[in-house]
This record gives sequence, structure tokens and C-alpha cells, in this order.
Amino acid sequence: MAKIAINIATGSLQQDEIIVGIDLGTTNSLIAIIHPDTKQPTALREHNTSSLVPSVIYFDETGNVIVGEEARKKLISEPQNTIFSAKRLMGKSYNDIKYNAAFFSYKVIDDNTGSLVKVQVGNKFYTPIDLSSFILKELKQRAEHILKTPVNKAVITVPAYFNDAQRQATRDAGKLAGLNVLRIINEPTAASLAYGIGLSKEEEKIIAVYDLGGGTFDISILRIANGIFEVLSTNGDTYLGGDDIDQLIVNYWLEQAGISKDELSANKEFAQAIRLTAEEAKIHLSTQDDFSKILNGDELSITKQAFETLIEPLVNKTIACCKNALKDAGLNVNEIEVVVMVGGSTRVPFIKESISKLFGKPVNDTVNPDEVVALGAAIQADILAGNNKDLLLLDVTPLSLGIETMGGLMDVLIPRNSKIPNKVGRQYTTHKDGQSGMKIAVYQGERDMVKDNRKLAEFNLSNIPAMPAGLAKVEVGFLINADGILVVRAKELRSGVEQSIEVKSQFGLTDDMLEKMLMDSITHAKDDIATRALVEARTEGEQLLETTERFIQKNIDRLTKEEMTESAVAMQALQLALTMDDKDLIHSKVEALNDISRPYAERIMDLAIAVAMKGKTV
Ligand code: AMP
Repeated sequence: MAKIAINIATGSLQQDEIIVGIDLGTTNSLIAIIHPDTKQPTALREHNTSSLVPSVIYFDETGNVIVGEEARKKLISEPQNTIFSAKRLMGKSYNDIKYNAAFFSYKVIDDNTGSLVKVQVGNKFYTPIDLSSFILKELKQRAEHILKTPVNKAVITVPAYFNDAQRQATRDAGKLAGLNVLRIINEPTAASLAYGIGLSKEEEKIIAVYDLGGGTFDISILRIANGIFEVLSTNGDTYLGGDDIDQLIVNYWLEQAGISKDELSANKEFAQAIRLTAEEAKIHLSTQDDFSKILNGDELSITKQAFETLIEPLVNKTIACCKNALKDAGLNVNEIEVVVMVGGSTRVPFIKESISKLFGKPVNDTVNPDEVVALGAAIQADILAGNNKDLLLLDVTPLSLGIETMGGLMDVLIPRNSKIPNKVGRQYTTHKDGQSGMKIAVYQGERDMVKDNRKLAEFNLSNIPAMPAGLAKVEVGFLINADGILVVRAKELRSGVEQSIEVKSQFGLTDDMLEKMLMDSITHAKDDIATRALVEARTEGEQLLETTERFIQKNIDRLTKEEMTESAVAMQALQLALTMDDKDLIHSKVEALNDISRPYAERIMDLAIAVAMKGKTV
């Protein structure tokens, strides 16, 4: 069985078909390959341009999608049509990001539910998967243009702390861009591969990867043994990076010139110019002792020493994160054998020195810190292509395993190419009041609708005690043992009711069948994802109608006549939208109904709380 898993990645490849490595970053993305002549990992770039493609997407008024440097220029002039940092939204619900909502200058939909976020541009709604797929499509096209050959297979990197849903979302984005994603690997793993660490089976090491980019900071501690990279701990700050360093310089200059922040925000052009000058100063100070430039008649200058004093608190913050990561891994600082630097901001000498001092050893900084992750991904791609035969590859699942959820959608619990043995759990709930049973249908395959996948087993978790919809907590666990036998277990956590099933010979597929299932998933990716989006929108719409109806019935005397009429009209409009095949229409009607019901729902909630409090104090 294990052999088959490796064969999908290798056996079906034509002699010289290329597999690319992709770093899909928050600020910048890039693509790398093992150069066919030099055999060295190489970042792809058009003549005399940077290998970095800004992860920014601009939608022009005719509906064209523009990705990269051109899009970045629109950030200031057309913020509502220009999407940045889509990676921060991957696999997230609005609840997950609501405290950072102000960070996004485009419209992130607050649909008042726990479902995945969407972004609205004009009258269209996009998921973070759609957005990331635009970036990946651009990278694929660039690579094809440079290499003059089709690019269909890729390894994509994600942060070590990405959860299952975020990894799955990244995989889906690849699929939507027309890429067969052979493997999702951790960014710190890729970075260490780029330094040649972990490339031999005998090697055993504990390493720290310090990654300070434009907008995020991560520290990961990994243990490498037998060709396996185990993440011992991660820590960091998802809103700390080079942009904050630029901001510190801007503030320093504003103070010197006696310009208030209000004055600055009133003059967008000047604000943009001073920010760019601050970045220029920061980069200049990585190699020189002082910086000075005249902007709008003001002299903006800063010495290296002043710069270092300015950024010291920020560097100390990252050091505190490193210490926490060490603590979580149960390690002393002197147990770290290698420190790898990643991200453009680690070019600042003061940062290198501080981190080197913390770990008591020189840091690895010889590989370009902007490219190191993509280069490592290219090395992993080369291993998967079978060009590096000495390397041990882990046993992996050849196809994704999951269960059927609302609307016949496939919910993947174990993505394909996951390590075996493996254990994953996810919680589900009931959708109807008093629901006493839940069907658990297990499927294998890459398509979004279960009907297009292969059914492995089905059982019913019965005897769930009667409770209102959404209260039951059913934990579904998938366990694949080292022999590839899958055990599926479902347990209702409040009552302890439990049921399980063993699925044998699940991988009884020939290489040809596997290949066909994979190719089908790529060919149908666009339709599949469109269908999924429609089914999800419908499910959301249906659930909202149900809860609103129930809420109104329960609180009928607390609503005004206008509120009742407005709600009825909005509900009718949503009902009608549900009969049509237009997800954007459904989303806009959901939004409209939410906008109407939110104020009175909040009012009635507040009232209920007030009554409850009064009841307690009397
Ligand atoms: P990344 O997200 O890894 O591409 O890192 C981008 C960040 O690195 C941006 O904030 C850049 O301003 C910063 N950066 C690039 N070059 C330098 C340099 N020489 N010195 C300091 N920061 C740099």
C-alpha cells in the first residue's frame, strides 16, 4: 500500500515533467524549481525582475483579475477592490478574525455565523480559497512563461501552525488554479531543506527556524530524525513584521518634524511616500551607518544607532516568543543545534546579532531569506519526482478520506498524502431539534461532492438523547494504523453514546484507478468548487431562514410591526434566491436578512440578559 502512495507522486510522471515548489506567502509569493542544468534550487524570475510576486489581487471594473506588483499599486488608490493578506483568512470564520477586522481595508463579510469568511468586491463574493487560487494561477502562468512548458504539479508550503482546515483550503486553492498539489509542507521544514538539513536519513538534529517577514513573525522548533520533521512547538505574532519596523521609522520622523498623525492621514500621498522612504531607510541601514533624504522639503534622516534603539522593543517581543517556544518544546536554549533565518526582515544586522546572541551560536543566513522557503519546496518537489532516490519517503494516504456533510459535500478529515499512521478528530452537531441519529458515511477521493467519490462505509450513530439542534457534540475520529486499516469512530460527547466501524482494504485500487481519480479532481476542480460554493451558500441560507423563523416565533411580542414586515420581505427574497443557482445572490440576500435581524436580535438578547441579572440580584 505504501508503495502505491509513492507511485502516484512518481510513477505517472513523464521523464522530464517539472514539479515546482511554491511559497504562498502573506505578503509575497514565489515559485522555485531544481534547475535542470545546474541541479541547484532556483527561484524563477523574468529577466531583471524580482522573484517575489506581491500576494495582492486587484479586481478592475471590467471584472479582470490582476495579481502582483500592478495590484499592489492599487492598495492606496482603490482599497475596496484590492485584496492583500488573503492568507490570513484561509480556513477562518468571521468570529476568528473579528478582532482584527479593522486591519482589512476591503470588505470581509460578517455573517454572524461560524462559517468560513467571504470577501465582497463589488457585487461578487470570494472565498479565501478563490483569492489564493488567483495568486497560484498567476504563479503557474509565470512559471509556464519562463520555462516554456506546462506546469501542473506543485509542492506548496504553509506555516507550521496551520490547522487541518487551513491546509485543506490551501490544497483546494491549488486545485482550483489547475495544480495537482503533491504535498503541502511546513515552511520551516522547507527552509531547513534549503540549508541541506534533514536531507540524509542518518541525520538527527533539533533546529529553530526564525521567520520574520513583512507582516508576520513565526518561530518553530523542529526535531529531525530518520528523515521525519517533527514540529515540537511553534510561537509567534501574526501581526508583527517588517511593516511595523517601517511604521516605527515613520513615527520617529513625524515626531522630529512635528507632524501629527491626523495631519498625516489627511494627506494620503505623503503618507504613502513617507512609508516607502522608511522602508528604503531600513534597507539602506542593513549595510550603511546612516540614511538621509529630502521629502517635500523636509530632511528625513536616521542613524543606524537610532534605528536599533527604535526597533529593540520589537526584537525583544520576538525573543519572548522564542523563549515561549523553547518552553513549550521542553528544551533549553543550548539544546538547539541550528538556527535558520527566514523572511526579508532578518536581513537587519541587529536582528541577526540579537538572535545569534539568544541561541549562543551563529545563525544560518547564507540563503536568500525571501527565497529560502520556495527553494526548500523545490527540493521536496524533486524528492517526490524520484530524482533523489536515497531519501526516505514516509508512507502516505493515496487519496483523501472524509465523511459526507450537509448537502452531500465531502468533508475531508485526512487529506491525501498524509503520513500513516494517523489520527484525526473533528466535531459535528445535529441540525434538527430532537434528532436522535446521525449518519456517518465514509468516502475516499478528491472531489467536492461525495457522489463523485468512492464510498467506503456507512453507519448510523443512534440513541442520541433528545436535545435542541446544534447542542449535540458528535466527535468523529479517523484512525489509520500502520497497516493502512481505517477505523472510524463516532461519539456523542454529552451522552457518551458511541459507535465505530473498521474499514479494511480501503486502498484496493490500482495505480490506474488512483491516477484517474486524481486527474478527475483536477479536471473538474472549477465545477466542483462552484458546486460546493453553491451548496454551502444554500445550506447557510436555509439555516438562517430556520433560525430567524424560530426566533421571530419566540419573540413575536417584542418585535415592532416594521421589523416583522421587513423581515418577512427579506425572508421571502432569500427563499426565492435559494431556488436559483446563483451563490452571490444568495449571499447578498443572507447579508440583507442579517442586517435587518441583527439590531432586534441584539436588543432582545440584551433585554434577556438584563432580566436574568435582575432575577439574580433581587
Ligand atoms: P518577506 O515577507 O519575507 O518577503 O519579507 C518582506 C519584508 O522584508 C519587508 O518588510 C521588507 O521591507 C523587508 N526587507 C527586505 N529587504 C530588507 C533589508 N535589506 N533589510 C531589512 N528589511 C528588509
